[in-house]
Amino acid sequence: MDVLIIGSGGREHALALALRRSPRLGRLYIAPGNAGLTGVAERVALNPSDCHAIVAFCQRERIELVVVGPEAPLAAGLSDDLAAAGIACFGPSRAAARLESSKGFAKDFAREFGVPTAAYRRFTDREAALAYLEVRQAPIVVKADGLAAGKGVVVASTIAEGEAAVLAMFDGAFGAAGAEVVIEDFLEGEEASFFALSDGVRARAFASAQDHKRVGDGDIGPNTGGMGAYSPAPIITEAMTARVMREIVEPTIEGMRRRGTPYRGVLFAGLMICADGPKLIEYNARFGDPEAQVVLPRFEGDLLPWLEASARGALPDRAPRFSSRAALTVVLAARGYPVAPTAGTEIRGLERAAALPDVTIFHAATRRENERIIADGGRALAITALGDSVTEAQRRAYAAVDLIDWPEGFCRRDIGWRAIAREKSKAASANAPSDESLKTRRA
Ligand code: AMP
Repeated sequence: MDVLIIGSGGREHALALALRRSPRLGRLYIAPGNAGLTGVAERVALNPSDCHAIVAFCQRERIELVVVGPEAPLAAGLSDDLAAAGIACFGPSRAAARLESSKGFAKDFAREFGVPTAAYRRFTDREAALAYLEVRQAPIVVKADGLAAGKGVVVASTIAEGEAAVLAMFDGAFGAAGAEVVIEDFLEGEEASFFALSDGVRARAFASAQDHKRVGDGDIGPNTGGMGAYSPAPIITEAMTARVMREIVEPTIEGMRRRGTPYRGVLFAGLMICADGPKLIEYNARFGDPEAQVVLPRFEGDLLPWLEASARGALPDRAPRFSSRAALTVVLAARGYPVAPTAGTEIRGLERAAALPDVTIFHAATRRENERIIADGGRALAITALGDSVTEAQRRAYAAVDLIDWPEGFCRRDIGWRAIAREKSKAASANAPSDESLKTRRA
């Protein structure tokens, strides 16, 4: 089967490597891809948002499946245009992708179909939004309604901060995305990302992960597209997976089906695991980046039939299988990211780093100049390692990072800290003398 992947990030590199392993794969194209794709997929110079040109390319090359990485082409209706041309697409229709492209829509939908989420109100008027803030308590969360590359959310620790966020959004800080604002209650708990595949009717739990959005160690500084991640999320136990499927994913898929806008593709639920159970923070209509770089390396088997079955409405009854090992990824970004990344600097040492066992290097904003790899934007690389624990995966990932020679780049040094602290305390309690042995010792 000939496949086209849409996108240019580490997520799409991870999709390409996973699909490459399929014995059923024919030709693999990626539009536009990045410097890491050489030898993996054939790069095509198409703009991911130019639906017309993508459909024309697919018809010319007889592409049978298109796998869409990022959200913007989905919100622009790429899946619908491909469907109209009879081409299968892994990724929801424009109407179903509204779960991500409008936070207000997602909140109303969650309320209608009983998906647990924070109490909220939607506003198109600044005075009404400010008046609502007056009667709420801090911390409080202010969100631009539309797509804002993961940056349109302010968790305000005071009402005054919330007011400033409301004013900034209505003043156009996020462009058209902020013409409507959602204000919602702050949820206390531990965050996790949950991925499920759906074919419009059925849903299958796929995998979980946790990411690090802030730029600095200790989860401080501005939000980014993501500085690292690990999978599985220790908090998403088997019992929690069943609960998330029952309380969040299944009502969502059923609700979309009943509305006449069936959801096909991967449903990414951003969750807060609260004392009284999982709550939805947001929906995304695609894999996360960098979550894909930890979820897909753990996937066992042939990914291609799963993506095709989701696109064509025929998911099998069995569950997808994953390695029980942990995967952890560290993002290397150009200095100055996320505000003003320096561009055009050379990255060396990638072969040595990639040669380490259980290590994979995913490219994002990179280009090739002759044989040199040049950083071409903010997040350049994601270095993923597998291990028998998150601690081991982290050690391997940083060993690889330390072999990369890129003085103009930086990364966080604490990716996975929460899971590693858990592993340490588990090991300590396993080694601690039991009450019985203490009694014997005292005697
Ligand atoms: P979102 O883009 O909606 O996922 O929000 C970005 C980040 O803001 C999330 O990953 C959370 O860390 C935080 N956040 C969003 N909504 C809430 C909420 N209701 N309570 C606490 N934190 C939130």
